[in-house]
Order: sequence, then C-alpha cells, then structure tokens
Amino acid sequence: MAAEHWAGISDELRREVGESNHKSWIAPLEYLGVNEDALRLRAPSRFVGDWVKRNYHDQIIAQLQRSGLQVQRLDFEFGPARAATPTNGSERTRPRAMPDEGLQSAPLDAKLCFENFVVGKPNELAHAAARRVAEGGEVTFNPLFLYGGVGLGKTHLMQAIAWELQEKRPELQVLYLSAEQFMYRFVQALRDRQIMDFKNLFRSVDVLMVDDVQFIAGKDSTQEEFFHTFNALVDQNKQIVISADRAPGEIKDLEARISSRLQCGLVVDLHPTNYELRLGILQRKAALFSQSYGSITIDDGVLEFLAHRISSNVRVLEGALQRLFAFSSLIGQEITLDMVQDCLSDILRTSERRVTVEEIQRKVSEYYNIRLSDMLGPKRTRTIARPRQVAMYLSKELTSRSLPEIGRRFGGRDHTTILHGVRKVEEICGTDTQLHEDIELLRRLLEN
Ligand code: ADP
Ligand code: MG
Repeated sequence: MAAEHWAGISDELRREVGESNHKSWIAPLEYLGVNEDALRLRAPSRFVGDWVKRNYHDQIIAQLQRSGLQVQRLDFEFGPARAATPTNGSERTRPRAMPDEGLQSAPLDAKLCFENFVVGKPNELAHAAARRVAEGGEVTFNPLFLYGGVGLGKTHLMQAIAWELQEKRPELQVLYLSAEQFMYRFVQALRDRQIMDFKNLFRSVDVLMVDDVQFIAGKDSTQEEFFHTFNALVDQNKQIVISADRAPGEIKDLEARISSRLQCGLVVDLHPTNYELRLGILQRKAALFSQSYGSITIDDGVLEFLAHRISSNVRVLEGALQRLFAFSSLIGQEITLDMVQDCLSDILRTSERRVTVEEIQRKVSEYYNIRLSDMLGPKRTRTIARPRQVAMYLSKELTSRSLPEIGRRFGGRDHTTILHGVRKVEEICGTDTQLHEDIELLRRLLEN
C-alpha cells in the first residue's frame, strides 16, 4: 500500500464520518506504512490519536479491508507531520522551492496569513508595513525591521508576507528562514566547501526574510556572511524583511555596522497586546476552533475573562483556548467559566495580574480628581463614595485578592462593604454609560 492508497481510503472515510469530523480527525493523520497486520499512522498529538482509536478504529479497519488489505490494527506515532503540508485544509501550497540545489524556504504555516491576523492599536503599524511589502511593488523601505516581545506576531506577519507574495507575484523568489537556519546552512556550506554556491544562492533571491536575527549576534563569521548577503541584496534593490526580539541598536553583540545597516529602512515595533486586541484575537480563534471541533459552544463571558486574565503573549492565549476546546469535546459540555477555572488553573496562576490594589486606588483617585486619603477614609459623600466603589470593583476584577484582603487595603473595611461596592458598580454600569466608559478607560490605563 502506498500513500496514495491511504488518500483514497481517507476520501471514503470522509463520506462516512462527514466533512467536519473528517477535517478534525482523519485529515490530520499522516500515512507512515504497513507493518504486517498493522497500519502505521502519525497523529499530530496523542489527543487526536486516542480520539481516532476510540471513535474511528473500526471504520478505518473496515474500509482498509474492503480495499483488499489484511490490516487488523492501527499503530500511532505522535508529533508534527514530517511533510510540510498545511494542516488546516487550506488550498495553499508552500512557496515554490528555489530551483537551484534545494535552497528552500522554511515550511510555512498555512494559518499564519493576513486573513488570520487581527489588527489593533498595538500592531497596526507593523501590519501596515507588512502589507505594503506583501504587495511586492517598488521597494520603498529596505529592510523592513520588525521587533517586539515573544508571541506578539512577528513570525505571523513575516509568513503572511511570504504567502501573499507567493499568490500575487509567483515569479518572485521568496526565501523565508530563521537566523538559526541561516547559520546552519552557512556552516554546512563551509564544511562541504560549497561557500560559493551558498553565496550565489542567497544572492539570487528577490525577497529575503530572516526571522529572529538576534540569534546570530555574537556568532562572528555568520554575522559577517549575513552582512555581505544583506548588502548584496540591498544593492540589487531586493526586499529584505528582518525580525528580532528587540530594536537593532539594543541587540547585544551585534556588530555596530550591521545594526546601523538594519536601521536604514523602516523599523517598527509590535507593542504588547491590549485588552481589545486580545479579545479580538480570541474571538477569531474561537470561531476557527469551533469550525474544526464541530458544535462546541463557548459562553460569552469566557473570552472576556481570558482577555482580562491572560495578558502575556498571544501564544499562551491560543494555547488556553485550544485546551478548552479539546477538554470540552472530551467531556461533551459547552465551555463555561467554571470549566475555565478548572482547566486553566496553571495558566491563570502564572499570568496573575501584576496590577495591585494600591495602583488601582491611585489611578482612580487621579482620574476622579480626589485625594487618595479620601478614597481610603470614611467620607461618604457621593463624589468620594462612587470613585471608591469603582476602585473596589476594579480591585476585584483585576487582582486576585479576596474580598477581605481588598477590604483591609481600603482602610480596614469589612468584606461585605467591598462586595456591596462591587455589586453597586455592576448594577449602575448596566444603565449608566458614562460610568461604564470610565471603567473601561481605567481598566485600559491599568492594564498597559
Ligand atoms: P513571535 O514570532 O512574535 O514570537 P508569533 O508570530 O509566532 O510570535 O505569534 C505567536 C502566536 O500568536 C501565533 O500562533 C500567531 O498566529 C498568534 N498571533 C500573534 N499575534 C496575532 C494577531 N494579531 N492575530 C492573530 N494571531 C496572532
Ligand atoms: Mg517568532
């Protein structure tokens, strides 16, 4: 039996299990071979493998036997597919391999395209610049240098550029790789005495994208070679896109001439996410997950809760959502806030908000122009009491402090007083749009 044979069987199974189940469970399986009476398959994760075994084992075996194979068992291996094919059923293909001697772009992830990139204030400039480069028109800034912390979308934007160019300008040679791969290929060329080939190949691309360039800092001969490649391409007016975890001038052990060269084009940073962006990303990803997991529903409050509580990088946010969907499909229940607490306790613990009750009190006092001592003191006039309640509400929302702990920080008030304040604000917020806006603004001020 060959891989094509499996493809035929997979098609048959599509008819039996339906399009959406097929996409979630059967399509991700990679055919590895047949061992005596066992068919060997690779599943992207143990979760998928177990699921398939439990739910589709018999159907798969039956289908194999119908096609004339004496297979009795399925054996699974786990891990990402060896073949660099996109796994989300998209029609995309990876950018064309370079014609000469296998200088290939690193495999691109089909999900990392512009359509899946959510734009917000923190990343709008980087997004706009990436879009411009992806048009493949005249080179206006060279290089485009994208930088920012982990998980803020640098790799996503670079791969999106590669996809887009591949579609719009298929004649262009686009090469995307990490700085680490650049070094690896360079060292290999040195070892195999093929450095001229290496140079020629890298100088023949139309668009070069090097991800995580901070990696080559301190690696002297690789830096040197990178510098020459870079200059040669800029001289030919070929587009270069670079990413790093910090600004060019701040990369330690990066040669000064390289860092100043890198600053010649457009340097844009991806800022840390804010609440709106996180919520937007979660909504987009939840819609995608819902498609692939069938009919799982998610409570409205859940995404908002996650956007508030997980403010580290987007990868963590995504992992959290993925876990919720997997868990929910296992136990066959919709995703609720209670489930979130159980299922994500570890993530929630580590991304505990760093904002403190004291900070909240200070910001809220400033905002309403009252004295901090009044906020903590006994006065009960409206102009003082309302801001105080707002601060109580935000303390409950944004910190992990308990009501008694918050009470102690509000001049030793009882926890029932805090609860009353929180409830009051919730209640008024429903009708008072001004208060609602005040709170959203304060929340943003405190989160960034
Ligand atoms: P970086 O390279 O900056 O460390 P990545 O590009 O690998 O980060 O992003 C990490 C994950 O977060 C990826 O799965 C990516 O798709 C997702 N992500 C980051 N920013 C966004 C965004 N604005 N919209 C949608 N997904 C995003
Ligand atoms: Mg990256």
